[in-house]
Amino acid sequence: MQHIKNQDLIHLNTFHIKAIARDFFIIENEQEIPLLLNSKDLVQTTPLILGSGSNILFVNNPHRPIIQLAFKRLQILERQSDYHIIEVEAGMKWDDLVRWSVMNNYYGLVNLSYIPSTVGAAPVQNIGAYGEEVGNFITHVHIYNTERQRFETLSHKECSFGYRTSIFKTALRGKAIITRIRLRLPTKPQFNLSYRDLHFLKDNPNLSLWLLRLTIGKIRMTKLPDPSIIGNAGSFFKNPIISPEKFSTLQSRYPQVPHYQMPDGKIKIPAGWLIDRLGLKGYRHGNAGVYENNALVLVNHGNATGKEILELSRIIQSKVKQAFDIDLVPEVNIIQ
Ligand SMILES: Cc1cc2nc3c(=O)[nH]c(=O)nc-3n(C[C@H](O)[C@H](O)[C@H](O)COP(=O)(O)OP(=O)(O)OC[C@H]3O[C@@H](n4cnc5c(N)ncnc54)[C@H](O)[C@@H]3O)c2cc1C
Repeated sequence: MQHIKNQDLIHLNTFHIKAIARDFFIIENEQEIPLLLNSKDLVQTTPLILGSGSNILFVNNPHRPIIQLAFKRLQILERQSDYHIIEVEAGMKWDDLVRWSVMNNYYGLVNLSYIPSTVGAAPVQNIGAYGEEVGNFITHVHIYNTERQRFETLSHKECSFGYRTSIFKTALRGKAIITRIRLRLPTKPQFNLSYRDLHFLKDNPNLSLWLLRLTIGKIRMTKLPDPSIIGNAGSFFKNPIISPEKFSTLQSRYPQVPHYQMPDGKIKIPAGWLIDRLGLKGYRHGNAGVYENNALVLVNHGNATGKEILELSRIIQSKVKQAFDIDLVPEVNIIQ
């Protein structure tokens, strides 16, 4: 275990916001978690678990101790003819796992290529992209429950996965340190090409996991700014899900509004479309801005403070509310 005093977080969050963590711990294995939490350094505090910082906005210097998990082992637990069960530790980079799955001919995770996550953070907001979500493959999540002070295993059902949400964002928010996830990965070919931009691959006789990964990489490059060039945390807001009644009012005013029917009858509207309709692409608030190619992404134009990004997000929320009577909810975790 390492204890670093006054750790600069600027390179540990993809917004590249300057913030200092007074106490920063790096944990090398699961057993160190209870040791650290019961030590004099942490007793009576609620630490913040930091993955790769790609879904976090530091508004101030965090007053909570920060813990990073550095363990990253991958194991195959069971081999059946049409699926394998694998278990992966929280500290592994998400895309290292996806690349490994593609190299070893496992289907499923490929649509989630290039998401800048750690494995441990993936279940938190049930990461998703191109018609797939990690929750579709997770059978169990191993956690340390900081309230009950014990290790626990949650079944898929207990994780309550939903659109960019799970129990780790609701009932267990701040109470669960995810240590390992267990996945059931298909070994027989199955491609998810349901996303519109992937339809063209349907008739391609050369379709393979590598081709799909390459295609997704290309699409992502056109839609999302590279955080190493311009600080951002991907989509800042969740896409709002509204009632059919509210949708028909919206559609009568904007017949061209894009929308996706949800299984429960509600309707999902792209938040980026709403923001774009208001002409906010490229809008700036101090050093913070709306990305000019994708209205859903807020960016740090250089030296932006967390406060500036937060203020910009609130300006957008209030304009969207005023114009469409829709509440935008941040997808990014705001750490005050
Ligand atoms: C360019 C870009 C593109 C993106 N594209 C997508 C996308 O396509 N789809 C998508 O869903 N997301 C996307 N994101 C958002 C982000 O990658 C995901 O939310 C990711 O899961 C965050 O992982 P992280 O390790 O960076 O977590 P962090 O940002 O470090 O943490 C996020 C939250 O999870 C908590 N957390 C982290 N690790 C653990 C743990 N082990 N146990 C308990 N809690 C934990 C943190 O406390 C925090 O609340 C994108 C972000 C960027 C910058």
